[in-house]
Formats: sequence, C-alpha cells, structure tokens
Amino acid sequence: MKKAVVLYSGGLDSTTCMAIARDQGFAAYALSFNYGQRHTVELEKAREYAPLIGAAEHMVVDVDMRQMGGSALTADIDVPKGTPTGNEIPVTYVPARNTIFLSFALGWAEVLGAADIFIGVNALDYSGYPDCRPEFIQAFQQMANLATKAGVEGRPYQIHAPLINLSKAQIIEQGLALGVDYRLTHSCYDPTPEGLSCGQCDSCRLRLKGFADANRVDPIHYVAD
Ligand code: ZN
Repeated sequence: MKKAVVLYSGGLDSTTCMAIARDQGFAAYALSFNYGQRHTVELEKAREYAPLIGAAEHMVVDVDMRQMGGSALTADIDVPKGTPTGNEIPVTYVPARNTIFLSFALGWAEVLGAADIFIGVNALDYSGYPDCRPEFIQAFQQMANLATKAGVEGRPYQIHAPLINLSKAQIIEQGLALGVDYRLTHSCYDPTPEGLSCGQCDSCRLRLKGFADANRVDPIHYVAD
C-alpha cells in the first residue's frame, strides 16, 4: 500500500481530506501540530479520532508558534466574531503556518518513503489566507522537489489539495459519500472550556454555512444549542 502523509488538524476539511486519501488507496500517516493554538481542544479530538478515521499512524509535532505570536490563534488577541468587514486577511491568519506544516510533512514523507502529501486547504469558502491558494501549493511542490534527496534523485513529490476548488457544501457532501462522521471533527477557533463551538467565529460560520448549503444538519454541539 502506498503511503501518504496527511495534514490532520481534526477539523472538517482535513478529516475529509483523510477520507479522500484513503479512498484513493493510500495508507494515511496523519500529522498534527501542537503549535500553541488557542483551540487545543482540536488536538485532543485529533488524538482521539485519528485511529477512528483510519490513520495508519498519528504523529503530533510540538512547534510553539506562541513564541512569535502575531495571530489571534497564537497570541492574546481576541478571535473576531460575526461577519468580517472588507477584504482584509483576518487576524486569525497564523504567519507562515502552512509553509511550516508542509515542511514537517515533507520531512516525514521523505523518512517514510512516501511520495504523496495531502493537505485539506480550500480557496473558495475560506478566510483568504494566502497559504491556502493553488499558487502556493504548486510553488511548495516545486520547492519540495528541489529541497529533498528523494526529489533530486528522481522520486518527485506530489502535494494533493483535493478540496481546493470545492465549496464547503461540496466538501461535506463528498465526505458523507465516503462515510465521514462529522461528529468526529472540530472547527471552532474559540471553543468553551468544555469544548463547545462558539458558532460565531469565521471557522464556525463557514462550517455552518456549508451544512446549511448542503441541506444537512451539523452533528456537533454549539454554545447556543
Ligand atoms: Zn467558533
């Protein structure tokens, strides 16, 4: 069975991405990060759910991005609630996060002898983060093949971003068709200490809109429930 490294946050997109990788016949090596995120509950869920969603292995890397801060997710900056105004990249953007995460994925892939890396980024129903766009994914793949022993020895890497052009509703439909149980996912940036989702942050709003557009009910619990 071919191996793939799958970036896995425990969220809706990365869990769907995992299901797609497995459906394509890959043994999925799930990679999560303890990066100092405000919503550490996502990491607890990821640890709990990785075996349930069929990960061959689950690695959690510690990389403390709170040392730099610069984001509402990694510094003492409030998570914005409600509809964003204007077209600015929101303060929940974490500087260079996907570059850092993909770099770890690349390192692990080279050790595993895997030529494939999956990332559940989406450039349609998203917050405008620059490291979620197709140009970034293409550029990273090019860099990966210049930067590694495997790449220069003719075993090129492919970075798969199967959700990149899908709407959130399409992602949910595809996941459900592959048997994803969305109770086993967490999206909220600012959950209560008990792990309830706020329903108001960008991530919650995109998720709820996706379920509404797909005419489905989101099975997780929100503060307002
Ligand atoms: Zn939320």
